[in-house]
Amino acid sequence: MARVLIIGCGGVASVAITKCCQNSEVFNEIMIASRTESKCKALMEKLAPNTKTKITTAHVDADNKDELVQLIKAYKPDAVLNLALPYQDLTIMDACVECKVDYIDTANYEPEDIEDPKWRPIYDKRCKELGFSAYFDYSWQWAYMDKFKEAGITGILGTGFDPGVTSVFTAYAYKHYFDEIHTIDILDCNGGDHGYPFATNFNPEINLREVSAPGSYWENGHWVEIPAMSIKREYDFPEVGMKDMYLLHHEEIESLAKNIPGVKRIRFFMTFGQSYLTHMKCLENVGMLSTTPIKYEGHDIVPIQFLKELLPDPATLGPRTVGKTNIGCIYTGIKDGKERSIYIYNVCDHQECYKEVQSQAISYTTGVPAMIGTMMVVSGLWKKDGVFTVEEFDPDPYMEALNKWGLPWKVVTDPVLVE
Ligand code: NDP
Repeated sequence: MARVLIIGCGGVASVAITKCCQNSEVFNEIMIASRTESKCKALMEKLAPNTKTKITTAHVDADNKDELVQLIKAYKPDAVLNLALPYQDLTIMDACVECKVDYIDTANYEPEDIEDPKWRPIYDKRCKELGFSAYFDYSWQWAYMDKFKEAGITGILGTGFDPGVTSVFTAYAYKHYFDEIHTIDILDCNGGDHGYPFATNFNPEINLREVSAPGSYWENGHWVEIPAMSIKREYDFPEVGMKDMYLLHHEEIESLAKNIPGVKRIRFFMTFGQSYLTHMKCLENVGMLSTTPIKYEGHDIVPIQFLKELLPDPATLGPRTVGKTNIGCIYTGIKDGKERSIYIYNVCDHQECYKEVQSQAISYTTGVPAMIGTMMVVSGLWKKDGVFTVEEFDPDPYMEALNKWGLPWKVVTDPVLVE
């Protein structure tokens, strides 16, 4: 029985909250707190008649540590699940340290303004030293290790699907199938169609920043960076079919390179259709993906935030999205002296998700693992003082929970490998 404070009430949070309410034996009380409290109240009113979980709501500005501390002290949760944006990770972590409460999130920290003079020089140094230029990286949150240890609290970083389930798949493969893992290819395929010429499946600002950035992969102990979308492969995804996919930088590469001993190469591929890429390139070329404010008729406007207002809200894509996602990992390595390869993946159907929780599969595949990661912590199965990524824990109870809570997975031996 646990009381959890959930921050944010967008696409991912709506699914995680719905799943907590289905799992009221564990989550007997939740508070939904976000910037726009009316959204929290609307979700509470929708869910309350059909759950034993006691739901309350609050307004909070998660950029304001003092407001967060006040709320946490008043509600006294066992854990805080951060489903706001990566921009808020550090303030929420600070508040958790001050209140000595466990912390869970789904995406690693990045700053809202990439010209921020407190952040930029550290970023420029990291680009030079490590060789990848993504705006997000784990260093900011790993730096909380001692603070979390001193406070006697657990921090779980990145329990969505990727990162999250893909890292748990890796821990599971390492525990049960390999003595050594040599290569990991993480394949994220969305075979869904929402019928719009252009829309993003989760927060447009975070999504477009990620996919318009240079790609990178880990090979033989260092990063290799490539121009955005310059490595393309085709793959025949089980239950989805043949799709083009492109190599991207992705956050779990960084933690898996650190935590999987002897791994030689880690790559991440995501599928995109040509129309998505053409729209994105055009928006980028005209400056609409910029996060730097510009003056327009006397007002400061951040182009990518203005674009977000024009694009369809990802939370509204559910009823019109058809097709399936297939997200998983292909591993090669050695077991008992012999070479082996396996593919672990989940297939999720957009319309099935919509029927169950009124969301499309991207929010579903992130929100379900957010609930599961929180359940691991509040039930005491994953409890260590410090800050960790999910592959650092026993994967078995999490893998069982994926089957039980809507994201069943398969293991295929000798899959077709990615060139
Ligand atoms: P949304 O934009 O739909 O929701 C974000 C929510 O956070 C909104 O309710 C928003 O409030 C709230 N919020 C934003 N700023 C603040 C603030 N300062 N204080 C309080 N609340 C705030 O995003 P998604 O649901 O699509 O994504 C949520 C998270 O999940 C992101 O961090 C994203 O990167 C991550 N993610 C992780 C994935 C994974 O597989 N690991 C995959 C997809 C997403 P308001 O309603 O007022 O806008």
